[in-house]
This record gives sequence, C-alpha cells and structure tokens, in this order.
Amino acid sequence: MQTPNGSPLLECRQLKKTFGAKTALDSIDLTVQPGECQVLLGPSGCGKTTLLNLVAGSLQADAGSLSIAGQLVDDPTRGMHRPMQQRGLAMVFQHHSLWPHMNVSQNVEFGLKLRGVDPSERHKQVMGTLERLQMEEFAERPIGTLSGGQQQRVAIARALVVQPRLLLMDEPLSALDARLKEELKSEIAMLIRDTGQTVLYVTHDQGEAFALGDRIALMSDGRIAQNSTPEAIYQTPSSRFVAEFIGSANVLAFQRQGDEIVLEDTLRMAATNGLPASGHLVVRREDIDLCPGEATAANKTPNGILPGAVRHSRFLGDRHEILLDLERGVSLRAFHRSGFSCGEKVGIRLDLQRAHVVRG
Ligand code: ATP
Repeated sequence: MQTPNGSPLLECRQLKKTFGAKTALDSIDLTVQPGECQVLLGPSGCGKTTLLNLVAGSLQADAGSLSIAGQLVDDPTRGMHRPMQQRGLAMVFQHHSLWPHMNVSQNVEFGLKLRGVDPSERHKQVMGTLERLQMEEFAERPIGTLSGGQQQRVAIARALVVQPRLLLMDEPLSALDARLKEELKSEIAMLIRDTGQTVLYVTHDQGEAFALGDRIALMSDGRIAQNSTPEAIYQTPSSRFVAEFIGSANVLAFQRQGDEIVLEDTLRMAATNGLPASGHLVVRREDIDLCPGEATAANKTPNGILPGAVRHSRFLGDRHEILLDLERGVSLRAFHRSGFSCGEKVGIRLDLQRAHVVRG
C-alpha cells in the first residue's frame, strides 16, 4: 500500500503508557514502512500487548504521538484520539473471535457487507481470500465443525479480505499444536509477502519472530531494546540482554592484557585483532568447538583450547546442546553433533573471530 507523501504506515513517537504506578511503555519510537512485517517480541509483561492496543486504539497513550499512513490518530497533548474503526485496521487474536451462528463465507464476508460492497464482488473477494488460505472447500461449513487451525485460517481470511491498512496479529498461533503452528507460520509468512500486507505481529516465540519478521523489535520492561532485521538482531545484538534473549548466547566479560584476553577474570586466550580493552564477548553456541580427549589441566593453552567438563548433554533432534563447566565457576552452552556423558572432560575452542562485543 502506498501512503501519502511516502510517509510510514505506522509511526510511534515517544509513546508512553502507565497503569497506576506501573510504566507499561516508555519512550517508544517505532516506524513501520508499507509492506513490512514488524514483530514485537519479548518476555511476558514487557509491554507488547499494550503497544498493540495503543495502535489498535483500544487504549489511549499518556504521552507521545501515533500516526497511521501519515494521519495522526493519537496525540494526548491535543486531546486527539481516533477510535479503532477510523484507523483502517484489522486484528487476529490468539483465540479467534468468529461468529458461531454464521458459516465460513458469512464470517469472511461480514466486513465487506459493512463497507457496502455489492454481493457479486463480495462473493469474488471472499472466495479468492479463502482460496489463498486453502479454505475454499469449507465455505459453507458451520464454524463449530472446523478444527482449531481451520478456524484460525478463517479468522485470518476475515481480517485480510477487507484489505486493512495495517493488520494487527496478537499471538495468533499460540493456541495451536506444534505441527500446526509450524505449518501456519510458513503459510502466513508467504501470504503477507505475496499480498504486500503491512503487519504488526506480537509474539513471545523466537521461531515465529524469525520466520515472519522483516524487523524484530525486542522489548524489555516497557522499552524497545533493539529493532533490527532478524540477521542483525542475531549477529550484532546491541546489549547483553538482547544477546542472551535471542538464541541464548554465552556472554563473557573480558579484559585485554597485551596480546591475550582474560575471560571472566580467569580464562586466558590469545586475543584477536580489533578487540577493545574490555567489554563483554557474545559467543554463540554454534561458535564453540568441542574436542573430546583434548582437555588439558592448564587454564592457558597455546593452541587456544580451554579445559572443561560436561555438566549436562541434551538431545535436540538435529544436534545436542552441551552445558559445560570451566575453571572457577565459568559455564558455557555449546552445540555439538553428538552427545557427551556427564562429567566427561573436553577441550573447548571458542571462535573469537565470530564473537561480537557488547556493553554489559
Ligand atoms: P504477555 O506476553 O504476558 O502478554 P506483554 O508483553 O504483552 O505480556 P503487557 O500485557 O503489555 O505485556 O503488560 C505490560 C505491563 O503492564 C505488565 O506489567 C502488566 O501487568 C501491566 N498492565 C497491562 N495492562 C494493565 C492494566 N489494564 N492494568 C494494570 N496493569 C496493566
């Protein structure tokens, strides 16, 4: 969708929302361009739903401003608050809110009827949208006879058929079982790319965030910690919180001493070029090599291999996650193609070339 003067589809400026003494959102700046899928990701209570509700218009901001397609819809300083129905939005929730007394096509058709679209055009659009969601053969079926996944497909069709300026999705897959979730996740990703639909998508599931998001805003305690492409948020986290939340990276404090670095005040390794004097190193689980039988007793080894012991080894299906104990209480998580026995001694090699430095 094009917006007037090429303005963003959604623009939040310094949004703030409190509930009594609780600041649910603080200084939120967020810009979503037409056709983008912006994910809001974060732990429970970080403010994702509150932000979605401000955009929807079901909540009013305390401060800041919010514009949709270049049109100001919320600005408390001017007493401006446009209701939900004037914002050009559609929503899909965790639990669909379909009308049980209507069949599938009547549910999908409803929004078009409200907008005065004539019956033959309505039929064409409803069937076209149901087809996109592989639901055309269910058009006449009562809602109560559909499975949970089919009902969620109808809810998505109902939201898409009105061609909203912005589609808001609030944990739409969280009530589905793992296999269905996987299937529908890919379908939604293809659907929103094919239709060019702009989406604001709330989830606490990283898999969904990475499968769907053009950008992922990771939230913490009412603020956006980082808003980047999936690749950037994974490879170049801006803080320790982001690194630990996204992909459970190992974060180790380090200090440079000449041509060595000392990790967590205890483990010495040869330094790589470009490391600052001190900071925190983000080492991903896939960037740690485990060498069975290469453990040494020393805490400094010329070949860069640190000694450690396996505390726990967990089979994940396609690989194993190994929890390792190193010298003086330092622990690390690593991936390996095979499992280890508890207590087994291993050599540990960190790929510092791939490590990223963050503030603490
Ligand atoms: P979850 O993933 O668990 O749904 P969330 O990230 O969506 O969490 P919000 O629901 O936005 O978080 O809540 C943010 C904070 O604001 C929480 O501390 C919550 O308890 C508080 N909060 C939200 N709504 C209200 C309300 N109506 N009254 C009081 N506090 C609220």
